[in-house]
Amino acid sequence: MYFAKRSAHRANIYHMDAECCRCCGKHLELYSDNPFQLAQIHEEPSRAQGGDPLDPKQTLTLCAVCHNLRTVNKLRLEIVDPIEGCRGEVRFLHDERSEHVPVQKER
Ligand SMILES: [Zn+2]
Repeated sequence: MYFAKRSAHRANIYHMDAECCRCCGKHLELYSDNPFQLAQIHEEPSRAQGGDPLDPKQTLTLCAVCHNLRTVNKLRLEIVDPIEGCRGEVRFLHDERSEHVPVQKER
């Protein structure tokens, strides 16, 4: 049951995010054998931090590279509008050690 809800939520977020990574703008696939093409749904805050993984305001689409950067904390994420949460404007602040420099997309 949870898996079905999670799967539907994942597809919903992917389409809401225009099928692209919200950080670097890379176009992603909902289903792919290539992990670098696959849309990953990031939870902000995480479940461990009390977040709801099925809340659209707490989830956004990231590519594997940005998601990895985020989860190892080299990439800081700032939610500009707490009411809109992840559906509103979010800013990514990069560590200069990172070689992956995303281009902010006009939304
Ligand atoms: Zn990305």
